Amino acid sequence: MKRRKFIGRSAISLAGISIGSGLIKPHLFAMTKNITPKPIAIATWNFQNATKMAGKMLEDGASALDAVEQGVMVEESNLKNTTVGDGGAPDRDGNVTLDACIMAPNGNAGSVVYLKEIAHPVSVARKVMEETPHVMLAGEGALQFAIQQGFKRKNLLTAESEKAWKEWLEHKKYQPIINIENHDTIGMLCMDKNGDIAGACTTSGLSYKMNGRVGDSPIIGSGLFLDNEVGGAVGTGMGEAIMKSVGSFLIVELMRQGKSPQEACEEAVMRTVRKAPNYKDFQVAYVALNKQGEIGSYCIHKGFSYAKFHEGESSDNPSPSYLDS
Ligand code: ASP
Repeated sequence: MKRRKFIGRSAISLAGISIGSGLIKPHLFAMTKNITPKPIAIATWNFQNATKMAGKMLEDGASALDAVEQGVMVEESNLKNTTVGDGGAPDRDGNVTLDACIMAPNGNAGSVVYLKEIAHPVSVARKVMEETPHVMLAGEGALQFAIQQGFKRKNLLTAESEKAWKEWLEHKKYQPIINIENHDTIGMLCMDKNGDIAGACTTSGLSYKMNGRVGDSPIIGSGLFLDNEVGGAVGTGMGEAIMKSVGSFLIVELMRQGKSPQEACEEAVMRTVRKAPNYKDFQVAYVALNKQGEIGSYCIHKGFSYAKFHEGESSDNPSPSYLDS
């Protein structure tokens, strides 16, 4: 039976079942499809340390939400990664400004944008989700909120990032190098033992962006989206292109309509290829996971891969691409 038909029919047949509050529990949806959820963690790029951390937590019984937060924090702490968290490259005026978001299986979401001096923006995003009536806090307000919540201020500009920025200032040419300067944002999706899915995305954005620029990564629907009944998607690359196609939301909605994660990622990349005449000048990449644990990934330029931890095994998985280079 085609998945689209199945969803339609199961929605009808399950609509009559009343459980607790009357809401259909997502894991019941999984059970009706004869699925035994196996914990899985996937992430953009070869961030196996992050997926290992999250995957092992999931195997020990952690919730998808806790695992995804702790998983991406591995890269937020990694000083060698110059586009996430501590050690992130600054904007062209020398400010390190961080963007992050998180989504829970129940559809709740939290986000921070243009956050300075806090090494773990994903955890501030989670606090926004859990402790405020809002979804997104920006700039000074986000920083004040983080401090109120007990986060400590820290200078995030490392000597290496400062040196690279000063070298960049000599030419001031803003043309992010494909797979290098628009690389290393971590978007992660986790499925736990109950089959529940959570996601997170965290970045310092494009190196040498304009002061005030915010990309796709903290935007629910662009850098990250999930629906626990369908699956989730995360994006990386040129945030402006991802925002213009609301890429992660698009992928989840295509999966809802019956496309596989692979087909959905391909269609999202093709939206950008068809609409942006200069698509060869930048990278856009997606990875998606559906409720059955199937994974898909696609990108414009060769060179993107995703990390996976599943059944005790960690791997780096090169993604198919639209272009060969
Ligand atoms: N998508 C991020 C942004 O545009 C960059 C990246 O993926 O590295 O801010």
